[in-house]
Amino acid sequence: MKVLTTIADVRTTLHAERAAGRSVGFVPTMGALHDGHKSLLLASVADNDVTIASVFVNPLQFAPDEDLAAYPRDLDADVALATSAGADYVFAPSVDEMYPEPIETTVSVSGVSEPLDGQSRPTHFAGVATVVTKLFSIIGPCSAYFGEKDFQQLAVIRKMSLDLSLDVSVVGCVTHREPDGLAMSSRNRYLTDEERSESVVLSQALDMAVEAIEAGQTDPAVVRRLMVDHLATSTLGTLDYAEVVDARTLRTPERLRGEIRCLVALQFGKARLIDNKGATAAN
Ligand code: AMP
Repeated sequence: MKVLTTIADVRTTLHAERAAGRSVGFVPTMGALHDGHKSLLLASVADNDVTIASVFVNPLQFAPDEDLAAYPRDLDADVALATSAGADYVFAPSVDEMYPEPIETTVSVSGVSEPLDGQSRPTHFAGVATVVTKLFSIIGPCSAYFGEKDFQQLAVIRKMSLDLSLDVSVVGCVTHREPDGLAMSSRNRYLTDEERSESVVLSQALDMAVEAIEAGQTDPAVVRRLMVDHLATSTLGTLDYAEVVDARTLRTPERLRGEIRCLVALQFGKARLIDNKGATAAN
């Protein structure tokens, strides 16, 4: 395992790997790595000759009132976890290395960026799309691995890669969960014990929605109500959104048909938690 901190070192190192005929898999992260990240690393290690993870808390994707300063950082633990997954390199640049000057060029994706998190965090996805474009340019991977945990982010990256003809295969990986169903997230460590025990309502509400859709419910408002009512049983969580959308467009259809995604966001004190699950509606 080698830790690289400069763009120049990454370019030289990975140029040599590619020149030797080795395929490069890439896992972008903001660090505070957990078993969800590890599942992405293991997928990359299985598919590629060389795996590189990036650890970079990207200021561009945080709004001024969000948790940029508080976001957990522990590079030594991240390197240990990446090593245990069989990764070869960690790219951990400073903010100055990534943004040596105030940035004047950004990548923004309309359409799929706009609903859901796009409503609550209007500048977030442009920050994500811009840093992922930079990282793809620096690293030059064959394949890049993203979690379905951030389903809208995955849709944004897929659309961006298609629209800009980026030469990277974008691979989606299933969400890794705690035994009680809570989706693993670096932000779970913000939860108090009481918030942690109530946080199970997210995955429970999604299970109820999936079950209703698969039992034949085709009215998105009815499914949404099921989720909202269950989320309201948490006294500590505040609803941000609960939506039932077409898995491709991320818009709510009049009637549920084909591949559907149910998505929820709940604020628990300092932690904004998001989760989602898929269902297939009868046509
Ligand atoms: P983050 O460090 O939170 O920006 O996440 C980096 C990558 O790991 C993203 O592609 C996330 O979707 C993915 N990820 C985060 N949590 C999980 C999880 N519980 N299961 C699978 N992938 C995840």
